[in-house]
Amino acid sequence: MHAHAVERLQLETDLRRAIDRQEFQVRYQPIVVLATGAIVGFEALVRWHHPQRGLVAPTEFIAVAEETGLIVPLGHWVLQEACQQVANWQVRFPFCQPLTISVNISGRQFSQTDLMTQVSQILQTTQLAPGSLKLEITETVLMENSEPAIAMLLALKTLNIQLYMDDFGTGYSSLSYLHRFPIDVLKIDRSFITTIDTNSKNSAIVQTIITLAHNLGMQVIAEGVETAVQHTQLNQMGCEYGQGYLFSKPVSAAVITTLLTQQYHCRARQLSPHPQHQ
Ligand code: C2E
Ligand code: MG
Ligand code: MG
Ligand code: MG
Repeated sequence: MHAHAVERLQLETDLRRAIDRQEFQVRYQPIVVLATGAIVGFEALVRWHHPQRGLVAPTEFIAVAEETGLIVPLGHWVLQEACQQVANWQVRFPFCQPLTISVNISGRQFSQTDLMTQVSQILQTTQLAPGSLKLEITETVLMENSEPAIAMLLALKTLNIQLYMDDFGTGYSSLSYLHRFPIDVLKIDRSFITTIDTNSKNSAIVQTIITLAHNLGMQVIAEGVETAVQHTQLNQMGCEYGQGYLFSKPVSAAVITTLLTQQYHCRARQLSPHPQHQ
């Protein structure tokens, strides 16, 4: 017990210093169109390079950051950093459909009254079009306080930002509540995707979620796509987008720049008119 408390206190102390010491980094995981494999955007996922402990996973520190309120400055930093990065990529790689960025918003951030102001300011300073920003909120956060949550979602929608429901299926699995939230995209949790190719009940659940989402005018992203069989099956089920190790792990901005350079050249070649005389 004692050792645990000491360790926890140390983590908290280190976390407080980490932003100033620039120990955080944003990784980017591509989100692809399942039918074509084309990259449409990325999810921003934070990483902490601890000077002694090395890489610390978000699952180890997000909860502590949330409890201590440190998630507020950290979340603000991630949002700013990710918006700036994608705005840069948009300028460098002007695809017909602008690249998008999804950023996770924790419960604590979501209940801040000035969230709207923060988001608008970041959009302004980075010059990112609001249509390129997607905010991911978990089902649990929405269900815990649904009236104020709906009000906040509606307010964010007035900025023209799209809203994603993250980890769908792991919380209250609120199928009957879904229509009440102004959500644009459902992200089906990885735990369902992992076994769709081996568990017919799970695959029936996933098909039901996709159909329901479509009937409510939402699109669907499958999280944690790891195999070609899962990819094919999800595509056949009508799921629009996928994210997972099959396509790419979350990687540094430099790796994404290389990836986009390759995809961009390849597309530019496809689009250029055939030479007339050869
Ligand atoms: P999430 O938002 O559901 O993010 C997806 C997680 O699934 C990421 O874990 C990603 O690396 C992992 N993942 C994606 N594809 C696969 C796959 O094919 N196989 C496997 N095994 N895993 C896959 P990560 O980066 O460790 O983040 C964990 C969670 O921490 C996130 O879940 C999110 O809830 C939280 N998180 C990460 N970054 C932030 C942030 O900037 N702010 C907030 N508030 N939370 C964050
Ligand atoms: Mg997420
Ligand atoms: Mg998720
Ligand atoms: Mg998750």
